[in-house]
Amino acid sequence: MSERFLPYGRQWIDGDDVDAVVACLHSDFLTTGPKVAEFEAALCAATGARYAAACNSGTSALHMAYHAAGLGPGDSIVTSPMTFVATANAARYLGAEVRLADVEPDTGNLDPDAAEAAIDETTKLLVTVDYAGHPVEYDRFREIADRRGLVLVADAAHSLGATYKGRAVGTLADLTEVSLHPVKPITTGEGGAVLTDREDWDARAKAFRTHGIVRDPAHMTRNEGPWYYEMLDLGFNYRLTDLQCALGLSQVGRLQAFVERRRTIARRYYELLKDVPELILPTVRPDVEPGWHLFVVRVAGDPARRLPFFNRLRELGLGVQVHYIPVHLHPYWERYSFRRGQFPVTEDFYARSVSIPIFPMMSEDDVQSSAERIRRAVKETL
Ligand SMILES: *Cc1c(COP(=O)(O)O)cnc(C)c1O
Repeated sequence: MSERFLPYGRQWIDGDDVDAVVACLHSDFLTTGPKVAEFEAALCAATGARYAAACNSGTSALHMAYHAAGLGPGDSIVTSPMTFVATANAARYLGAEVRLADVEPDTGNLDPDAAEAAIDETTKLLVTVDYAGHPVEYDRFREIADRRGLVLVADAAHSLGATYKGRAVGTLADLTEVSLHPVKPITTGEGGAVLTDREDWDARAKAFRTHGIVRDPAHMTRNEGPWYYEMLDLGFNYRLTDLQCALGLSQVGRLQAFVERRRTIARRYYELLKDVPELILPTVRPDVEPGWHLFVVRVAGDPARRLPFFNRLRELGLGVQVHYIPVHLHPYWERYSFRRGQFPVTEDFYARSVSIPIFPMMSEDDVQSSAERIRRAVKETL
C-alpha cells in the first residue's frame, strides 16, 4: 500500500485543462476577452443561477457581493465564527460591523436560532457558510432573512456542486460567493464568482470588479462618443483573466465528476473509520448532498490529545490541517471586543477538529492508506 504524502486537498489538472489554457495563450486575449462570459455562462448552467460575475478570488467575490447588496458604514452582517476570516473581513472593507453567532454542534454550520438572536437594528446581511461543503439549513435562513428584511448571502466557497432538498447551491440565497482556489471544488488558480438571480446586483458586482466603471450607455449619465465610459462608484481591479477563465471552463465541465468522486471517498472513510470510537465522523443531515470540500474528524475524548494526534498524522505523511481557527480568536478580531468563551460550540468544534485528506485524485489505495495511517495515529496518541 502506498505511503505517499497525501495533502488534505489539492487540484486535479488534466491534459484538457492544459490545452484550454495554451489555446488561450495563443489567442488575442489574455485578460478580459470572450472566455470570461463563457465561463460565467457555464457557472450559471452548472448551478441554475441566472447571473454570474467571475473575479480574481473568493475574497473579492465576498467584497463584491456585500457591496452589491448595499452594505456600508453603520450596517452590520451576522455570520459564523467557524469560517475562513475572509467571510468577516469583507464586511470591514466596506466599513460595516460583524456580529457572530454560534454553530450547530453536529455540522459546524451557523445555528439559525443563534443567528437570529444576533440580529440587531444595524443588520443588513445574513451570511451563511456551508462548512466543509455541507449546505446550511437554507429554508430556516430564508425564512429568517425574509421576516427580518435581510439579504441572505451564502459563502459557498466549500459547496459548489452540493444540493439542499434537491436544489443546487448557487440558487439558495440572494447572493452566493464561490471560491476557485486550488483546494476548492474546481479551480482557476486563484479565482471566485458571485452568483445571483438579480440583474441589478450582478451589474453592481461587475462594475465593482473593474473600478466602478460602466460602458453600457443605458447605465451612463451621458455619452460623449465611442471611447466614452463612466466611473459611477469606487471599485477595484478584481478581474479574472481569460487564461484563468479558459481553465475554469474546462474545470466546470468536470465539477459533477469531482463531487461524485469526493462522495465516494467520504463513503469509504465512513466504512473504514466507523469502528474507531476515538473519532467523531462528520454528520450528514437528511435532504442534503454535501460537496465534501473537507472531511473533518473530531477527537472524541480529551481535546488536548488533538495536538499529538495531529503531529503524528503529519509524521505519517498526511498533510492534515485544522479548519478553522474561529474568527473571533484572531488578534485582529479580538479588537472588536470578541472574547474566548463567547461561542462555546464553535470553540469546542475547533479544539477537536482535524481535516483529513479528501480530493478527487485520491485513488482507492490512497483512501485505504490514509485510513490505515489515521487508525495507527489513533492507537498511538488517543
Ligand atoms: C477559501 C474561502 C474563502 C476565500 O476564498 P479565496 O478564493 O481564497 O479568496 C472564503 N470563505 C471560505 C469559507 C473559504 O473557505
